[in-house]
Amino acid sequence: MKYSECPKCGGKLIIEKNTFSGEAIREYTCIKCGWCDEESLGTAMWETLSDLEEELEDE
Ligand SMILES: [Zn+2]
Repeated sequence: MKYSECPKCGGKLIIEKNTFSGEAIREYTCIKCGWCDEESLGTAMWETLSDLEEELEDE
């Protein structure tokens, strides 16, 4: 995790995880000052798993 608190004001962060076209992004939003940033987590693991499941079902 890149941040545990807001680097600007030290306030509490809302951390959300999103996936866009197979890439996982972690979003940080400060509830105190509105600062936000995002961190790329690379390829989404769940999508790799779902691809494997589909291959197994075809057999
Ligand atoms: Zn802040």
